[in-house]
Amino acid sequence: MDAIKRLQSHHIKPSLQRIAIMSYLMEHCTHPTVDEIYTALAPDIPTLSKTTVYNTLKLLTEQGATQTLTIDERNTCYEATTSPHAHFLCKRCGRIYDIPCHKHTQVPSEAQCEGHTVQEVHHYYKGICKQCRMQEEQGS
Ligand SMILES: [Zn+2]
Ligand SMILES: [Zn+2]
Repeated sequence: MDAIKRLQSHHIKPSLQRIAIMSYLMEHCTHPTVDEIYTALAPDIPTLSKTTVYNTLKLLTEQGATQTLTIDERNTCYEATTSPHAHFLCKRCGRIYDIPCHKHTQVPSEAQCEGHTVQEVHHYYKGICKQCRMQEEQGS
């Protein structure tokens, strides 16, 4: 699915900047921050500001086209994958990995949630990632 179709399917008017931000997120599954997205897109879109990136991401998230992550308390990260999955944050390199969703990370039924409607489920794991562990082993 391309970015325009994705925006339209979430009832968002596809402006140039929105398309650029949506495509960036669909192509980069690294959970980028506002700063990262801005730095990557600014050379191509001279009219882009950090505020626009922030506001666009807010809109995309409100409309369900993107998902917000607050695993890293210093930064809010964004991703285009909106299906439930868990995240692993490496405390050493700061990279965020997607972890496939297990049964227990799925949204419980309303009855199980005391009548509340669950809209988001976040599962965060923190530790040392595979790459950092490998570097450590090679270094010692
Ligand atoms: Zn790491
Ligand atoms: Zn993710």
